[in-house]
Formats: sequence, C-alpha cells, structure tokens
Amino acid sequence: MALIVQKFGGTSVADVSRIRNVAKRVIKAYDQGNDVVVILSAMAGVTDRLIGLANEASGAPDRRELDVLLATGEQTTAALLAMLLKDMGYKAQSLLGHQAEVVTDCEYGNARILEIGGERIRRLISDRNIIVVAGFQGADIKGNITTLGRGGSDTSAVAIAAALDADICEIYTDVDGIYTADPNICPKARKIKVISYDEMLNMASLGAKVLQIRSVGFAKKYNIPVHVRSSFSEEEGTMVVNEDSAMEQLVVSGVTHDLNQARITLKKVPDQPGVAAKIFSPIAEAGILVDMIIQNTRVGGQTDLTFTVPKGDYERALEIEKKIAQTIGAEDVFGDTDIAKVSVIGVGMKNHSGVASLMFNALARENINIIMISTSEIRISCIIEEKYTELAVRVLHTTFGLDRED
Ligand code: ADP
Ligand code: ASP
Ligand code: MG
Repeated sequence: MALIVQKFGGTSVADVSRIRNVAKRVIKAYDQGNDVVVILSAMAGVTDRLIGLANEASGAPDRRELDVLLATGEQTTAALLAMLLKDMGYKAQSLLGHQAEVVTDCEYGNARILEIGGERIRRLISDRNIIVVAGFQGADIKGNITTLGRGGSDTSAVAIAAALDADICEIYTDVDGIYTADPNICPKARKIKVISYDEMLNMASLGAKVLQIRSVGFAKKYNIPVHVRSSFSEEEGTMVVNEDSAMEQLVVSGVTHDLNQARITLKKVPDQPGVAAKIFSPIAEAGILVDMIIQNTRVGGQTDLTFTVPKGDYERALEIEKKIAQTIGAEDVFGDTDIAKVSVIGVGMKNHSGVASLMFNALARENINIIMISTSEIRISCIIEEKYTELAVRVLHTTFGLDRED
C-alpha cells in the first residue's frame, strides 16, 4: 500500500460540510490500506480577511505578528478536520507547521522551507494515524512562526511528500486539472492530461496559480508525482511528472495571466553608470522581486526607467523609490496597480519565428494596448491594462490554436 499526501485548497474546506466531504475522501484512501497525510489550506477568503484585520489594526503590520495571525487560518481547518475524523471513528491528529517540523528561513510572509524533520509524522503514521498538517506555515530555527507566501499550502504538501518519500502528492482544488489557460476566464481552455515539471514551472511562474511555483520546484527536485484534481468529483485530473509531454511539440502550449503585478516608473533618471544599481539594490534588500525592467533610450543625458513588482509589495517599493529618486536626482516617481501580464508559453517557440508578431497582431485587433513586453526563448509576456485580461487570454488562446473542440 502507498503513502499518499493529499492537499485540499481553500474552496475545498470553505465550511464544515465541505470539510466533512474532505474527511470522507481521506477515509476512502485510508480504508484502502494507504497511509494518508493531509495538508490543509485556510477556509476560502480567510487569509484575505486576516490580512484585512491586520491592516485595520496597523498602518504597517509587523511582519512577524502578521505571520502569527495568518497561520491561524490553517490552524482552524486542521483542527476541524482532525476532530471530524475522530468523530467518525478514525485515529487522527492535527499538527501545526512547526509540530510537523517544517523549518524555514525567517523571511516573514514569504519564507522558504529549509528542511522538514518528518520524525513525528512518521511515528504517528506507523501507529496508523491520519495526520492533518496545517499548510502554509512553518517556523524558523528560533521557533518564530513563518508563512510561505500566498498559495503556500501547495508547497507545504509537496515538501512534506518529499520529506516522507511519499508515493504521490494529490492536490485537490476547485478545478479538475491544469488547463491550457485558466478555465475560469477562458471557457475554451483544454484540460492537460500530463504535464512536465518544467512546463508547469513556466506556467506557474507566469501566473497559473493552480500550483504555487515553489511546490513545482520541490516536486521536480525530489521527483514527486503530483496529481492536480477536483475535490468535488472523482474525475482524473492532471499528472505533473518528470517526462516530456506531448504539449512540448506545440509552438504555444499555454496562455497565462498574472493580475499580481504593479508598475513603477522613475522619470528623467540621470543616465550614468551605477544609477540602476542604486535604484534596484534597496528593492532587493527589502526582499521584493522585480520582474520586468524597461529603460528608455537616453535623451539629454536622462532616461525613464519602468519596472514591475508584485502588487503586495507596491507601496513599499514606491516608498523606497521616492527616497532613491531624491538621492539620484530623478524628476518624478509614479506607478499603478491596474495592470496585468499575459503570456504565451511553449517550448516549441525556440524553433519558430513569428510568434511575437502573431501575439501583437492579435492584441492590436482587439485594440488592446501593450504597455511593456518581455521575452525569453520559450515565452512572450505583455503588460496590458488589467480590464482587458480576460479578452486578451481568450483571443491569444484562439490565435494559437489551443481552443477545445466541442
Ligand atoms: P486552492 O484554493 O485549491 O489552492 P487556487 O485558487 O489557488 O485553489 O488555484 C486554483 C485556481 O487556479 C483555479 O480556480 C483557476 O482559476 C486558477 N488557474 C489559473 N490558471 C490555471 C490553469 N492553467 N489551469 C487550471 N487552473 C488555473
Ligand atoms: N491560505 C493561504 C492563502 O490563501 C495559503 C494557501 O491557501 O495555499 O494564500
Ligand atoms: Mg492555491
């Protein structure tokens, strides 16, 4: 029999009746003789509500205390599921992140898992307990509670699966697999049966939030097969595995969008050596990830520079740049958060020309203005106005021949 790690996302545990359904699903796997470790998210909307409370309490919530607060969302669902399982006559135990020996660095709000002990879980499993672990959380070596970034329960699940050398990690969510585009905004998206770790890494890094990117990194590193499927049906989902999928033959294999983008522009920056370093070093020191960067051509010894950061870091990044602008003598700093990044992805792009022009023409036909562009060997991304996101995704999906045949 197998060791199965099952992770249930926010919508799957949105209320007690859904957690009861989760209990039934877990029991089914357990009754077949498998060892089962369950990782839970907070109830849908709870993490956002907790962030709202913190912002109500403080203009700039202390990052350590914010993590203590956010971790309660997952603590609630883990306790409720363990309680239900025990009521149903099963041996079960809930564990918080640190009790499950999830050790992270001390980057509050976006901590990385350094190691997972797994001893306590193994002991409990050998006694045929069903283990319910609160996802999204761990503790640093000093015992401070940390959280793993939005969507982090996926990473908890895959990392725990790796630490326990599990046979499979099942990710139960509100869609029945991984699609060629987000099925919630692109009705013609096609379900992908098998996808390779590398392809999923690309999709996740460009906004397909169905799996947190770090979870895919763990899955690849430790070769853990991941099955993404619906908690509301028995249907087979998508396998994320270490092999080349048929998708790789396609020039474009998927379209993604990312609403978690904000842009900051520094106007009339002196065009001198060392200025870019002055602009970006403090951003890096603040742990903020910069995605796209565009620098205009020099006019009169000055240039404009625009870059994007995650929406959640926008205010911090803007504050930092306002100070930097004064020290380097830039004329102005401004930005906006009403933008989105749409990307087309495909390993087949390496050997094909014309993908960019097809993409730009498709967007132009819909009158969608492209604000920024970035490319790599296997993807093209455009920043557009947020309100055009759905239209852009659908049009690109059709343009690159990905639409499902009904
Ligand atoms: P959970 O709460 O279960 O972790 P998430 O909301 O984090 O669920 O992830 C599932 C969502 O990911 C889906 O509802 C869907 O809108 C979104 N999504 C984005 N891109 C894709 C894709 N290519 N395939 C499937 N789902 C996608
Ligand atoms: N509850 C956390 C979030 O909303 C983690 C997760 O659901 O994976 O981001
Ligand atoms: Mg998620």
